[in-house]
Amino acid sequence: MYINKAKKIVLKIGSSNVVDSRGKLKEKWLKSLVKDIEKLRKNGKEFVIVSSGAIALGQNYSKIKKKRLKIEMSQALASIGQIHLTNTYRKIFEKRKIKIGQILISPDDTEQRRRAINVKRTFENLFKLGAIPIVNENDTTATTEIKYGDNDRLAARVAQIISANILINFSDVDGLYESSENKKVVKEVKNINDEIYSFVENKKNSYGSGGMGTKLDAAKICMNSGCYMAIANGKHINPLDKLVKTNICTWFLPKVSSLDARKKWIVSSIGSNGKIYIDNGASKALRNGKSLLPAGITKVEGKFLKGENILIVDESGKDCARGITSFSSEEINKVKGLKSDQIENILGYSSKSEIIHRDDMVKL
Ligand code: GLU
Repeated sequence: MYINKAKKIVLKIGSSNVVDSRGKLKEKWLKSLVKDIEKLRKNGKEFVIVSSGAIALGQNYSKIKKKRLKIEMSQALASIGQIHLTNTYRKIFEKRKIKIGQILISPDDTEQRRRAINVKRTFENLFKLGAIPIVNENDTTATTEIKYGDNDRLAARVAQIISANILINFSDVDGLYESSENKKVVKEVKNINDEIYSFVENKKNSYGSGGMGTKLDAAKICMNSGCYMAIANGKHINPLDKLVKTNICTWFLPKVSSLDARKKWIVSSIGSNGKIYIDNGASKALRNGKSLLPAGITKVEGKFLKGENILIVDESGKDCARGITSFSSEEINKVKGLKSDQIENILGYSSKSEIIHRDDMVKL
């Protein structure tokens, strides 16, 4: 079962999972989910929750029944509802002594690579703090043209950025059905082809706001990022525990390893102006698949921050690799040519020993 092996898991929770038909938050359900999460966290798993429900809760709180809302009205309602949503998550997680952090994301944050790197760092630091990031789209400022509009694709992008192993997309059905008549759940999908799309068309009207179409879009993003995605029924109490025990869901299998996907992403991303020049020994080490250490760095060019995508130039002046630096240009200038164990002394704080880790680097 894929969940047992996963380290980083993104849970996508739809409005219909957390908010009931009267617009009230399903606290009992949420408590049961948090219990499941706590159990799996004890096995060392990390979680991110992408939760919808802001607009629905804002509607309930403001006593606005109207289903079809103008965008500016739903923006205002999301602003009201988001507070209630996060506050309820906080209250329930706090009972189990688990911290949460809120991240509201706009498409720019995930589609622009430099911003995506920043977002990734925030996630990583929240993990370091032992907090569970609770994510939603920044509905209050996003207008129609610049909106995801559904949290399916947003959750897939988050999974991609943080190199999650699994995205569990909780829905109100058991998975992708072969046909609406026999309700047979497709077990595994290796390729999203016409046949898979035909299953969706059969069931078009039975799904919530995002629908099965956007779930397939999300699955495609995951499959190309080395991440497994499940469509599972989130309506039950203890939904995660139930999924782990029964494995009733549709699994979409990745087409590439997440490391390969990450490297593809590094190569295709917009680089900064930063360059690091290295000596013969370092370029030999890089060719052998090693990380870049400060000892082999001879010169730094340009100003850059940690997390930026920079070029590595070898002793003959050739661009030999590209990678995401774990140090700023200012820091590298201080530690270049030195042994890794001297970094902490020079900088005055502990940090990584590799300037660019091998998993964050692609040889050119
Ligand atoms: N971001 C929206 C909300 O929180 C929901 C989007 C969706 O239904 O996927 O209300």
